[in-house]
Amino acid sequence: MPNHKKEIVIATENNGKIEELKRIFANTSFVPRFLSEFTEQLGDTKILENAKTFEGNALIKAIVVGEKLGILTLADDSGLCVDALDGDPGVYSARYSNEGTDIANYEKLLKEMINVPKEKRECYYNCTVAIYDPETNFVETVSGKWQGRIAKEPRGSKSFGYAPIFLSEDSNFKKTNAEFDPEELTNMNHRGKAFLGAIKILDEYFNLK
Ligand code: IMP
Repeated sequence: MPNHKKEIVIATENNGKIEELKRIFANTSFVPRFLSEFTEQLGDTKILENAKTFEGNALIKAIVVGEKLGILTLADDSGLCVDALDGDPGVYSARYSNEGTDIANYEKLLKEMINVPKEKRECYYNCTVAIYDPETNFVETVSGKWQGRIAKEPRGSKSFGYAPIFLSEDSNFKKTNAEFDPEELTNMNHRGKAFLGAIKILDEYFNLK
């Protein structure tokens, strides 16, 4: 691994994600910088995440921030897709309920699913990462999925969002996302898979491998 690590920007302000991303990037050739370090340059830049797909929203974020800062930027858009709800809440996961808080969102989802039997509660998290290099206009996207099932009631207090009601396939649907230690998630969850994919693309792009 070269001594000189490359600085990249990751366009997120979500503290839960930032901790996870610092772990994912720890042993790579890249040093991630987050939006809070660029408040002056970003000023009142508005990022309108109004696309109907994860890919569309991730691209909007990466391109707006990358253009503004002039640094290679990664941005992700993620959410929970439930089979019985035709893929909802999907790209609207963060604002599924009127209140938009984590608890109000997952309580609304549990209510929608109240009569859905165990075998029809399949779901997955999706995370799509967009990479944009303003110097070359290089654009690429990569996605990761984490398969699971919606629990009947919330359990666990680790992580954020829909974690307490997501029973993961890896635990044979015994443990919720909120019962895993954060360190365990990197090789398992949607964000880990998508960002590890992005790191592979970046290694190839910079010819590091
Ligand atoms: P965004 O990618 O920040 O727009 O996240 C969208 C929403 O998806 C979050 O606010 C959470 O409600 C949900 N979500 C995404 N990833 C996770 C996760 O790893 N655990 C729990 N909820 C998640």
